[in-house]
Amino acid sequence: MYQKGRAWIEIDREKLCRNITVLNNLLPQGCELMPAVKANAYGHGAVLIAGVLNEIGIKAFCVATIKEGIELRRGGIEGDILVLGYTCLKEVGELQKYDLIQTVVDEKYAENLNDYGEKIRVHIKIDTGMHRNGERCENREAIKKIFELKNLKIEGVYTHLCVADSSRREDVLYTRKQGQAFYDVVSWLERERNVLKKHLLSSYGLMNYPELSGDYARVGIALYGVFSRREDIVDYISLHPVLSIKARVAVVKDLLKGESAGYGLMYTAECNKKIAVLAIGYADGVPRALSCGKGRVLMHGYFAPIIGRICMDQMLVDVTEVPEIEEGDTAIVLGEVDGKEVSVYEWAEQTESITNEVLSRLGGRLERILV
Ligand SMILES: *Cc1c(COP(=O)(O)O)cnc(C)c1O
Repeated sequence: MYQKGRAWIEIDREKLCRNITVLNNLLPQGCELMPAVKANAYGHGAVLIAGVLNEIGIKAFCVATIKEGIELRRGGIEGDILVLGYTCLKEVGELQKYDLIQTVVDEKYAENLNDYGEKIRVHIKIDTGMHRNGERCENREAIKKIFELKNLKIEGVYTHLCVADSSRREDVLYTRKQGQAFYDVVSWLERERNVLKKHLLSSYGLMNYPELSGDYARVGIALYGVFSRREDIVDYISLHPVLSIKARVAVVKDLLKGESAGYGLMYTAECNKKIAVLAIGYADGVPRALSCGKGRVLMHGYFAPIIGRICMDQMLVDVTEVPEIEEGDTAIVLGEVDGKEVSVYEWAEQTESITNEVLSRLGGRLERILV
């Protein structure tokens, strides 16, 4: 057991590998996983996660920024690394130095990359209806011009689906239209040239539209064992949350009837209470919206409500009902033990968000360890 530190994240290697198996089984013929390890692998620790995935044979990753790509390389990660987002032109040399693949976000950007003057590996992003980055699928002249640029080593084309998580009829039709638009561009391109890699599925795309196929599935959230929302859970895709958060009990003290605690004195004891100070706060990613009884932690198998306002680095919990609590004990802030769980769905609902946001905001101050 890990016994140092004030608060930390545990990554369950076995569950991560089980999720990979589950997702591999969903893959259409000829498609492989390209895990999304952006935003520090959705808070899980990018080098840690990609390292495990490398060990079990995953050879392609995607990240949002060049900095995230460099971090992976410096951490010894092998294989293709695709930068999904914008890279400023000053940093193009680093793409080459660290052997990263850059996304071309439109024709103008392609020309600017080309002007760097040396070969750069790229995938071309096609906008099929999300209207975020990517050259519009109907601008075939522009797409053709990109393919004529001499310094771009074009290794793939891809698009992104924007309503693949929805089962509303109009969204299903929209997703099918996006798929059709993408493959129309691909087959038009392939009349004159060989397009190496084509991809369009992320987690919900893979789970809901595997028939849209492709060479890669860029899975993020599902890999970490969760859906974006609780209501999306389906029992035929058995995912296991990979991450838990633990924090140390720094102080245990009595709070007498009528006394208040924390910033704003938001909590008042209605009878004599025992409280514990946990060494974790909102700067570590515990949402402040869980303050004042909304959230709870697990201690010795009991739920202890969060009381008062969560501070930046610490928070208070009511441990009156928890037996034998001592300074130095460990609280499960997120995670499960013996069938009891504080789940990331709970946090997402309490903050009116999705699990993706809750996880990706977990702080850099928490150490990540593999268990
Ligand atoms: C973040 C991202 C993904 C991964 O999305 P999930 O829904 O977490 O699977 C895939 N593709 C692109 C372009 C992304 O930005």
